[in-house]
Amino acid sequence: MSEEGTIAAGNKLVLSTKALCKSYGDVVALDQVSLEVGSGEMVVLCGPSGSGKSTLLFMIAGLLSPDGGAVELSGQDLSHLSSSGRTGLRSREIGMVFQDARLLPYLEIEANILAGGGTAERANELIEELGLGDRRSHVPKKLSAGEQQRVGLARALVTNPKLLLADEPSGNLDQGSTELVLAGLKKFVAEGGAALVATHDPEVIKMADWVFTLEKGILQG
Ligand code: ADP
Repeated sequence: MSEEGTIAAGNKLVLSTKALCKSYGDVVALDQVSLEVGSGEMVVLCGPSGSGKSTLLFMIAGLLSPDGGAVELSGQDLSHLSSSGRTGLRSREIGMVFQDARLLPYLEIEANILAGGGTAERANELIEELGLGDRRSHVPKKLSAGEQQRVGLARALVTNPKLLLADEPSGNLDQGSTELVLAGLKKFVAEGGAALVATHDPEVIKMADWVFTLEKGILQG
């Protein structure tokens, strides 16, 4: 991917943002942000708190509308879809991971993973891959922060999305969980997924094909 609009040869364009702009009153959260992510690519977004990372991720997920510019997912302009069309596209094509896993408190692991769709078979594959096999009958409050984050990653991957959007997926985790989350991200991308990850974790940055920094809503190459 590049700001100029090329992705590595052989990779298919999954996500493209074109001159996205968003302001909240006088605060410019995003200023002409254009980027692309292809299949089998990981793009990392760095930037201090308040630089616009969450605004960008939420806009790509179709949860926030831009003031100007466009988001295209698999060639479809989100602004051309109805709200239910955007919801459908998001649930089919996007997986999202947040820094706090945002699990449903009364559901055991497998039910949490399947809350947004997917098959039990795929959920169980991810439970094993992410080292959660001996925790499957636990509710979130019985899990460590690292285990909760691994459940959050499994929930994002269970529908086999084309695009993974992640906001600090490996922040403040124990070493074992960090390694499992990184391995999960790496496998997703190696199998052809497209990932856009907001993070400052040097281990994730090392895995990235491209690293960009947002500064006051402006994307720096
Ligand atoms: P980051 O994720 O990098 O911390 P954000 O995208 O959350 O940055 O925020 C970018 C800027 O937009 C910040 O100045 C923030 O205060 C502002 N902002 C974000 N959401 C809102 C909102 N709903 N209302 C007003 N200002 C907002």
